[in-house]
Amino acid sequence: MLLLRRVCFLLPSPSPRAPLAKPLPLPLRPPRTLAPAARPLASMAAPAGGTAATSRDAFRAAVTNTLERRLFFVPSFKIYGGVAGLYDYGPPGCAVKANVLAFWRQHFVLEEGMLEVDCPCVTPEVVLKASGHVDKFTDLMVKDEKTGNCYRADHLLKDFCKDKLEKDQTLSPEQAEEYNKILAILDDLSAEQLGAKIKEYGIVAPDTKNPLSDPYPFNLMFQTSIGPSGLSPGYMRPETAQGIFVNFKDLYYYNGNKLPFAAAQIGQAFRNEISPRQGLLRVREFTLAEIEHFVDPEDKSHPKFGDVSDLEFLMFPREDQMAGRSATRLKLGNAVSEGTVNNETLGYFIGRVYLFLTQLGIDKDRLRFRQHLPNEMAHYAADCWDAEIECSYGWIECVGIADRSAYDLRAHSDKSGEKLEAHEKFAEPREVEKLVITPSKKELGLAFKGNQRMILEALEAMGETEALEMKAALESKGEVEFKVCTLGKDVTIKKSMVSINIEKKKEHQRKFTPSVIEPSFGIGRIIYCLFEHCFYLRPGKAEDEQLNVFGFPPLVAPIKCTVFPLVKLEKFEVVAKKISKALTAAGISHIIDMTGNTIGKRYARTDELGVPLAITVDNTTSVTVRDRDSKDQIRVEVDEVASVVKEVTDGQSTWADIMWRYPAHTASVAEDEEAEP
Ligand code: AMP
Repeated sequence: MLLLRRVCFLLPSPSPRAPLAKPLPLPLRPPRTLAPAARPLASMAAPAGGTAATSRDAFRAAVTNTLERRLFFVPSFKIYGGVAGLYDYGPPGCAVKANVLAFWRQHFVLEEGMLEVDCPCVTPEVVLKASGHVDKFTDLMVKDEKTGNCYRADHLLKDFCKDKLEKDQTLSPEQAEEYNKILAILDDLSAEQLGAKIKEYGIVAPDTKNPLSDPYPFNLMFQTSIGPSGLSPGYMRPETAQGIFVNFKDLYYYNGNKLPFAAAQIGQAFRNEISPRQGLLRVREFTLAEIEHFVDPEDKSHPKFGDVSDLEFLMFPREDQMAGRSATRLKLGNAVSEGTVNNETLGYFIGRVYLFLTQLGIDKDRLRFRQHLPNEMAHYAADCWDAEIECSYGWIECVGIADRSAYDLRAHSDKSGEKLEAHEKFAEPREVEKLVITPSKKELGLAFKGNQRMILEALEAMGETEALEMKAALESKGEVEFKVCTLGKDVTIKKSMVSINIEKKKEHQRKFTPSVIEPSFGIGRIIYCLFEHCFYLRPGKAEDEQLNVFGFPPLVAPIKCTVFPLVKLEKFEVVAKKISKALTAAGISHIIDMTGNTIGKRYARTDELGVPLAITVDNTTSVTVRDRDSKDQIRVEVDEVASVVKEVTDGQSTWADIMWRYPAHTASVAEDEEAEP
């Protein structure tokens, strides 16, 4: 989604969160009675004598270290020193991403009957000129005056204010108020205002302490040219949405000329971020999953709103943000009926996004829906909400859900000359009053010669009020001065040159430009937050030893199950292979580990990969199945084990359901987890 001004994604919480105070370094495994997700960040510990910030840093370091070591993701082109803002997903990362996207397709495309498309990343300039990206998709940048290093101006000011607020013990209440105010209005500052504040506070280049240039706009699109001539400019798309808008006419036809309908697209987006940071959260190439739901602007009700209206979750309406209050738990049905959320369809998608994220494993207490402040919204938007997820970097915008009215289709209609409209056939013809403007080509030609066409078009484009004012003036005075923007001057229009009338007409249908409601998902951001929300530590075998676990729900776990022979014996290996075959036939991703490592080490390794179930072959007729989070084990017949695993990993049964059906197995000391060397 293009906003006229880009919005910083790490908004300051208007009310400061409670200090993080528990004297433990990292989130430990919650007691068994709690959900498998790790404890909320707010209860994450600060080390004795340490600060919340150091605790957050330690937590992030532990997560990132595990992710990179286990090849979930790594910096791209690492052997050549890497490139900021570009990352590769390794095998488990790819599997998690594929699972997230498969669930997205199931939850949105399949369940809502959306029309999926797949458009090119390389986009001709004309498309992005029409959408406004060529002129307005910019961030304000400053340069180190000596080295030429580039920084985002608002990030430097934000870091300065946050640093002062967090670390400066000598800050007066007035200064603190000023810094807080700047954080709140950061997105609203012009280049001049940002530059003035940077100068006033003496902010310099963070790496060299050199002076900085004045801020100036930098377009974030990667430019290219299409074909060898270099004459056809293009860009790598900064979002997938435009591909859907330009196909509206065909998609509407494909849908039987009926509204509402939604189109969806998953694909890569490219943004040449000025100073990418925060790992997967701000990158230069990322996967977007976008929905464009086209709806009649006069009827934004949704037939399935009742399915989500009882949901209750954290919402942060703009009034609460501006009054310095915190997000509160609201019932979605009330938020729509009381007008907090603009319309049912927007509310429906907010509810569906909530269900999607929480079913993936995002902690509902660290998920909020924040409404855009008036200054954040594009002038044409009716209402916008961001699904923000709290992680060690703060509250991160992961999904934007916007009612963009008819802006995008109108922009492409105007530029391409192709009418991107819908129509509603009336059951009975309706009598309507219509403004009819009929310019006289002959009179205009005689008076204005070569300028005739532009004046004619300007007359035809008049709105109702302007036309009626002209009619009144022509009737009373016989002529009127008329501004023609395309000529850049006023011309005198005489009564003989145009007739303006209100006529009664019978209409059989109504033509209109549909509104679009757009949920836009940053898949990398969701995945990173999921990694943090699922990560926890639990004590190992040795004293003081802490083991890393990713408590992924089976739905997103990269590998659903492991198979280990307890000891290296041929008869156990035969059974392990037989089970592996059955798992493959059932479509369950798994690994079979025949290494002679101790079972404890093998458990520790798969826990770090977030594998929910482990089968240990300690017998030729029955085997044990271990649940990652509770470490409980049951004994299951060899022939049954693949279907038991499938039941749990497909979500048909929970582990608790299964525990009732099979005898428990007590783990021996040898099976306790050990850290890998
Ligand atoms: P926007 O079109 O700016 O509203 O972005 C749509 C979604 O894309 C956001 O909600 C983010 O989740 C994601 N996103 C935007 N910029 C980036 C980036 N540089 N890196 C990763 N994800 C991004």
